[in-house]
Amino acid sequence: MPEIRSVITHQLLKQRLAHVERRIREAETRFGRSPGCVQLLPVSKTRPVADIVQLASAGYRAFGESYLQEALDKQQALTGLSLAWHFIGPIQSNKTRPIARYFDWVHSVDREKIARRLSAQRPRDLLPLNVCLQVNISGEAAKSGTGLDALPLLAAGVNALPGLRLRGLMAIPAWEDDFERQRAAFHCLREAFDQLNADGLALDTLSMGMSGDLEAAIAEGATLVRVGSDIFGARK
Ligand SMILES: *Cc1c(COP(=O)(O)O)cnc(C)c1O
Repeated sequence: MPEIRSVITHQLLKQRLAHVERRIREAETRFGRSPGCVQLLPVSKTRPVADIVQLASAGYRAFGESYLQEALDKQQALTGLSLAWHFIGPIQSNKTRPIARYFDWVHSVDREKIARRLSAQRPRDLLPLNVCLQVNISGEAAKSGTGLDALPLLAAGVNALPGLRLRGLMAIPAWEDDFERQRAAFHCLREAFDQLNADGLALDTLSMGMSGDLEAAIAEGATLVRVGSDIFGARK
């Protein structure tokens, strides 16, 4: 079972959340984005259920999780709240069935085989599973994500699958502390996104930006930022 009790006080959690919300609003203003256009997805992996309850009471309905079993345990503990769950971690092909059934979104689809399984295993009484394709923009061999060269074909294939609804792209660029370099990486993803839309897809979600680089992501057109540590504190 996941940890039940919160390790940080409710007061501190509220302060951290307010600070992240302010950063997002300020970045929207500074970079000419319309107010409120960037969604904050709290990333609750490794965090106790009580912290999710706190954020739910502050109005958050969607949460990002990376570890399947932990996420399923939390979903069970929180069934009364009718939350939406975003799977953002690496996907092994033997784990697709519960992901297809118990999540509303998956941000980390990076190959056709996984997409086909998720589509086939999505229960037909549910809406199609919302999907973002994870792109490896920094070209690091160890990271998950499709290369930019393989993206158009993968996107066309996923777009045709009946159990999935292709919504956009996601990336986790290699860490940079220089703002302009952060921007350059996000710019690549933005260009790929625009190109796919120019080619006829109807993507509306650019999932990029985390605690340390959300401003650069918003400058480059992020519609959703995934934030863990700056809301909940450093992970152990
Ligand atoms: C953990 C994680 C995050 C959150 O990262 P923080 O630096 O804690 O904000 C965002 N996206 C993905 C895919 C993650 O695994």
